[in-house]
Amino acid sequence: SDSHFPVPISPSHVDYSLHYPHFFPSSGEVNCTKKIQFADVGCGFGGMLISLSTLFPETLMIGMELRDKVTEYVKERILALRVSKPGQYENVSVVRTNSMKYIPNYFEKGQLSKMFFLFPDPHFKEKNHRRRVISPHLLDEYAYVLQVGGIVYTITDVEELGDWMKRCLESHPMFEALTEEEIEADPVVKLLSTATEEGQKVARNGGQTYKAVFRRISPSL
Ligand code: SAM
Repeated sequence: SDSHFPVPISPSHVDYSLHYPHFFPSSGEVNCTKKIQFADVGCGFGGMLISLSTLFPETLMIGMELRDKVTEYVKERILALRVSKPGQYENVSVVRTNSMKYIPNYFEKGQLSKMFFLFPDPHFKEKNHRRRVISPHLLDEYAYVLQVGGIVYTITDVEELGDWMKRCLESHPMFEALTEEEIEADPVVKLLSTATEEGQKVARNGGQTYKAVFRRISPSL
């Protein structure tokens, strides 16, 4: 249950020196003012983060994962990469948490420039829709932590969930869909299916995927 992992009481209590020691050495003066900018929500085994890490080497990013063992695996994976490729993967980390409860504990208003919701659990039954990681209520929180212009990336192989995520985003006043041209031009979109473990599984089985990519906008008055 949630009581087994610590939760920072506010974003200023997130210990950056623990996650990114290369950028925030625990001893000596820390001049770094960087903040986490990408969040991979329900990151699973971390494939997306590992790919993003080298694509955006100066951007701090974090995976949020509920399962203890999976989180430990991602931690070990990152530490091993830091050893085998010195100077790389210092900008990526993972935390065990329930993202549906604690996003505002980790990020302040307008902090994030990208959020990822990749192959989230479908929760098919109607009474369980409130457990979906994209919902009208949770989009309010995501809009709060995203900067204007920030991007939400979603992908799933479950058509019904794909429709649901798209519908929630379309109905929200603080999000607008990227155009086809913008989606085509964004190198991150290609990674949604190729870099994630779930995406690779779907591709192996020849399955279809459904994406929704939306931008945080300022609400019109
Ligand atoms: N994004 C990864 C990928 O595409 O390979 C993993 C997808 S997996 C189907 C969904 C992941 O979300 C699981 O690892 C699960 O433990 C995690 N998860 C589910 N609910 C969560 C929550 N409330 N907070 C954080 N992670 C959650």
